[in-house]
This record gives sequence, structure tokens and C-alpha cells, in this order.
Amino acid sequence: MSEGIENVVIIGSGCAGYTAAIYSARANLEPLVVTGAMPGGLLTTTSIVENYPGFPDGIDGTELMIRMQQQAERFGARVQFGSMLEATDLSQRPFMLTVDGKEILTQTLIIASGAGHRHLGLESEVKLDKKGVTYCATCDGALPMFRDQPLVVVGGGDSACEEATYLTRFGSKVYLIHRRDELRASKIMADRALSNEKLEPVWDTVVTEILDVNQDKVTGVRVRNVKTGVESVIDCAGVFVAIGHVPNTKVFRGQVDLDDGGYVLRTDGARTNVEGVYVAGDCSDSVYRQAVTASGMGCAAAIEAERNLANLG
Ligand code: NAP
Repeated sequence: MSEGIENVVIIGSGCAGYTAAIYSARANLEPLVVTGAMPGGLLTTTSIVENYPGFPDGIDGTELMIRMQQQAERFGARVQFGSMLEATDLSQRPFMLTVDGKEILTQTLIIASGAGHRHLGLESEVKLDKKGVTYCATCDGALPMFRDQPLVVVGGGDSACEEATYLTRFGSKVYLIHRRDELRASKIMADRALSNEKLEPVWDTVVTEILDVNQDKVTGVRVRNVKTGVESVIDCAGVFVAIGHVPNTKVFRGQVDLDDGGYVLRTDGARTNVEGVYVAGDCSDSVYRQAVTASGMGCAAAIEAERNLANLG
């Protein structure tokens, strides 16, 4: 940092953000990490991560993120916990950021703002949020309201399979409701879920309404078979929505190029259309979306930022 101007500000504290922080800290750039509302990112809502290299027995998602944070801090990264980026002006350098009401100037910016949970888009989903509707089995699955009750998981990807398998520990039965007759999940996760005797897949089916009959909490879901059109009700105490993610990029709209889905457009690896602004992780990746690919992209973004600063002198 010189004359009140940061070298590198990193927006986000998932695998992409912290890996960018480790690399830029090791380059003596003293990066500032703006964590966002969920320090550690989405991996803190998962249980065991079994596919991050270097951990043959798996590692708890939160622990992995704390380790990355400590590794970044060890080399001089400054982490502003819970801080939120509210506005950006990337039209000239140094770039201007508004974080928690305060202005920050920075020569380079790494966008690693990740993604949030996709919602079903039902009115009843909003009404019953936290009253039985949740987006994180690891966070909420063990709550007393879900114990020994039938539960519903919506989705067909790795998240849905992981959540449904996890919830069989607590619920009396878990219905996995998927809109097709084939899971999108990787074979290992799909097999693990479908071989669990407490789990019942409900194929070709969408949730049309979440019910709270005479109670201020979830009592069931109304579903429709998309092939037959037949409607029915499944009684349950909880609805765990696991239907993918949407990129957290609203604050960058009009500042950097985004694609139709709101993902930051990458050019030449980690670059964006604005010189000095780089991007990494789930906010720019609708294809791979893995912890390890996010880390790799964070590394690339930090190297680009370092080279750009060197060129600036
Ligand atoms: P995903 O792979 O995008 O799957 C989303 C699922 O939700 C799909 O089955 C999709 O159906 C369904 N869906 C989407 N919109 C829907 C809607 N409006 N209504 C009903 N269903 C809807 O998302 P994800 O499972 O969160 O996984 C994201 C990434 O993280 C993936 O790359 C995954 O491999 C990774 N991940 C890895 C692990 C692990 O290895 N431990 C755990 C979790 C996630 P269609 O299949 O019909 O499109």
C-alpha cells in the first residue's frame, strides 16, 4: 500500500479469494481481503471435502478455509471479516471501492465474489424461509425440527446428493425430488445417495408449492410429475433446496463485462475487459465450479495482478 492506495484488493474469501491472497501476499503486495457476509465462502456450508488434493482422508470445509485464511495472513494478507463491497467505480485507476460505507482506492482488483444459492422462485419458499425451508443441510440439518421427520431435498446435482445423504442421519426418510429421471451428480455421489435405504428418489417431478397447513412451518410440498402432469402432496417437515448457484456479481454490473447468466467474462485466463481487474472462481465459472479450480484461478489472478503492478512501476 502506498499513499493510501492499495496494491491489490480481493473481493471474496472462498478458495479463489484466499489463494489469490496467498500468492499476492507472498509477492509482498499486502493484499486486502474483503470477505463478504460469508467468510470462507460456500465451502464452509459443506461437510467433508474429499476431492481437494493433499487430504487423502478428506477435510472439513470450514477447516480447509480457515487454513487458507491463516496461510494468507502468515504472508501479510489483511482480512476484513464480514466486510461488504457496496459499490465500485472501475472507470479509472486507481479504482474506487465502497466497502462498509468507506472508500478504498486500489491499483488492482481481484473479483472472487463466488456464488449464492439458487432459489426455486416460489412465493411459499420465501414465506417459509427458515421455517423449514433451507439451503444448507450442513448448517440446519441437525435442528430439532427436522429430527425423525420426513424431509425433502430438491435437485439432482452433487449438492443435492450430498445433502440428501447427510440428512438421512437425522430425518425419518429423505425424498430426493429431481425434475428429470437421471441425476446430474457424479457417479460416486449419486451411487452413495441412491444406495441409502432411507432415501427415496422422486423422478421427473417439480415442487409447485411448499405447504404450511394450519401451521407457521413447513408441513409438506405439492409436486407435479412433469411427464404425466399428475399432482400430489408429500408430507415433510423440511425442504432443502439444492438446485445450484447464481454468481454474486450484481455490484459489478455495468463495471465489467458479464455474460447472460451474470458470470464475469474472462479473457486471457484471469483477465476481464478492464485492465487491472482480474477474476477467479465461481463468479466467473459456470462449468467446473470446483474448490481446486477456483484455487487455480485465484493463483492466476494474483500472478496477473502482480505483473500488471510491475508494469505500472
Ligand atoms: P448443479 O451441478 O448445477 O446441479 C443443480 C441441480 O439442480 C441439477 O440437477 C438441476 O437439474 C437442478 N435444478 C436447477 N434449477 C432447478 C430448478 N429451478 N428447479 C428444479 N431443479 C433445478 O449444482 P450443485 O449440485 O450445487 O453443484 C455445483 C458444483 O459443485 C458442481 O460442479 C458439483 O460437482 C460441485 N459440488 C461438488 C461436491 C463434492 O464433490 N463434494 C459437493 C457439492 C457440489 P438438471 O440436472 O435438470 O439441470
